[in-house]
Amino acid sequence: MDVEFLGGAREVGRSAVLVDGSLLLDYGLLTADPPQYPIRDPEPDAVVVSHGHLDHVGAVPALLKGDRRPAVHWTPPTADLARVLARDTLKLHGNSPLCPFSEEHVARLGEVEVRHGYGESFPVAGGVDGGGSDAGGTGYEVTLFNAGHVPGSAHVLVDDGDTRLLYTGDFHTDDQRLVSGTRARPDADVVICESTYADVTHEERAAVETRWADRVRTTIWEGGTVVAPAFAIGRTQELMLVADANDLTPYVDGMGKEVTRLVRRHPEFLRDPEALRRAKGAARFVTGRDGQRERIAADNALVITTSGMLAGGPVHSYLPEIRTNPTNAVTLTGYQVEGTPGRELQEHGRLELNGRVRPVSARVDSFDFSAHADREGLESFLDDYRDSRVLVNHGDRCVAFAEDLRADRFKASAPELGERIEL
Ligand SMILES: [Zn+2]
Repeated sequence: MDVEFLGGAREVGRSAVLVDGSLLLDYGLLTADPPQYPIRDPEPDAVVVSHGHLDHVGAVPALLKGDRRPAVHWTPPTADLARVLARDTLKLHGNSPLCPFSEEHVARLGEVEVRHGYGESFPVAGGVDGGGSDAGGTGYEVTLFNAGHVPGSAHVLVDDGDTRLLYTGDFHTDDQRLVSGTRARPDADVVICESTYADVTHEERAAVETRWADRVRTTIWEGGTVVAPAFAIGRTQELMLVADANDLTPYVDGMGKEVTRLVRRHPEFLRDPEALRRAKGAARFVTGRDGQRERIAADNALVITTSGMLAGGPVHSYLPEIRTNPTNAVTLTGYQVEGTPGRELQEHGRLELNGRVRPVSARVDSFDFSAHADREGLESFLDDYRDSRVLVNHGDRCVAFAEDLRADRFKASAPELGERIEL
């Protein structure tokens, strides 16, 4: 078995790992303008997708160009989320020649997809000779396990009868309200491990929740409005659950509304479907018609809305309304990538609105509602793989983390972008 890193190596975004030139694990987009794709255009026999985030699934429809029809394997929530993301990509970039796929390619997903639950092993054609089942490739047995990141997120175990490769995808070792943390530790000879938060120790989730709920309550009590920018997939639902558990009634706006309806169709992938039903029943979904957003902004309320890093979305209707009054608050609820408007607000208290940089007098606080394992989580996960070879990916400091692991007697390295490794 060999693996080639086409994206997500020593970086976060556009994840793609090609096994034996035949089986592709994830095929993501890096959010930028224009968006970036994995470094080359592979022609796999099959694809397995770890979860429904843009940086893991965003470019999958592009694999269905011409008469190419690789099978696409994923969980039911990932299948639904992939379509929501593809439609959003077409909305943003569909008219650009840089958009690598069209509506037609998205529609073809229905012809090639196969949905799988956790723990159900399935055969995938392909192999060393790359030509599918009729060309000598012996194929693989693949199994998905709950990765505890977002609904439907999976660790991917690939077994070719000789080598067992575990691709972790994004994962969390702790329970979140929306999904339970990862528990499965299948035997593997090689582990490709994400390392997004290899440098971070998360604050205890219960403490983060209390701090956030207190900030919301205090702001509303003082007569202000709270804008909580949140990613549509995972974070919006997590915040709805935290709000409901603290008797806070949020407005919910943006793509997170559709995602909430969608994940509720897959209760077996939720930690507590009944809690999400209650939270959804209590929340008020915003249509945005007839100046509704302006009214909400003036209404002494909590609004959870996209986008999480303020790069677009309805959050831009609320911020101009609440910006000048220090009684109002913005609660950032996820990591703000360098160069995003969210990072600019976090570090410098200002924001570009309609092409002009404006100071923000509203209070700005940050809360770490991460859906990734932190340093301690990564180490506790990998502790079960002390005899395996560990390849660190999906992080800004992969090399340093691999070095630390080697110092701790792991067989670890951090492959470069484009590197092909014989296992
Ligand atoms: Zn993710």
